[in-house]
Amino acid sequence: MLQKSLSMKQLKYTEIIKMAKTAIEEYSNWDETEIPVSAREQEIKKIKKETVIQKVAEQTKTAEQNLEEFKQQICNCNKCPLGKTKLNFVFGVGSPYSDIMFIGEGPGFQEDHKGEPFIGRAGMLLDKIIEAMGYKRSSVYIANIVKCHPMKDPSNPELKNNDRPPTQQEMQTCKPYLDKQIEIISPRVIVTLGASSTRALLNTEDVISSLRGKFAEYNGIKLMPTYHPAALLRNPNLKKDVWHDMKLVMAFLKNK
Ligand code: URA
Repeated sequence: MLQKSLSMKQLKYTEIIKMAKTAIEEYSNWDETEIPVSAREQEIKKIKKETVIQKVAEQTKTAEQNLEEFKQQICNCNKCPLGKTKLNFVFGVGSPYSDIMFIGEGPGFQEDHKGEPFIGRAGMLLDKIIEAMGYKRSSVYIANIVKCHPMKDPSNPELKNNDRPPTQQEMQTCKPYLDKQIEIISPRVIVTLGASSTRALLNTEDVISSLRGKFAEYNGIKLMPTYHPAALLRNPNLKKDVWHDMKLVMAFLKNK
């Protein structure tokens, strides 16, 4: 009898131990399950926010570094004859985080001497246009379809009035570099200045007067063709057209 009751007790103990084991397993999640749902949600939101901030910071750093690394990779390019006669490789200038990229045709005398795009008379006018749009030269990105100075007489980079537009072949050879810059900067709008860059990016032979003022698209990015600032210096009547085009760009950028 005693023997029987002991074995029943033993059975109970076995069950109690089993239950305790199950409870220990369950309670290993105790801390987490005991946190009120609202507090847990808040914590998750905080972690998500911190992760997003960190990711943005990383991406921001990467755009700057990527652009600089890319410049170092291509600045000694000799894929076309312009590479041999240039004084400086004119990569581009401005903010790698800009919503807007201005694309001209190629460096002139002054740009070749300084290694920076749009610093001559046309460049000063471009700065005014940028400022009238509410930006600063340093807050947008400015580049050209070709990075080296196209010259009528390539034997003399010190000669003034020696600039010429880039040839089709020069533009096609250099265009992948611009494509990579566009990919890194990822602007919301590209503004092409003049016929050369507009035609090269849109792959058309149409005249700039019929292309300007209408949004096109390049690699999924809005593209607004307009007149080159040098054309405005020759014909100030074109200024109102450029301003019309820039207002369309501004309106587009306001709509986030
Ligand atoms: N014209 C251009 O198209 N680009 C420059 O950088 C300077 C003048």
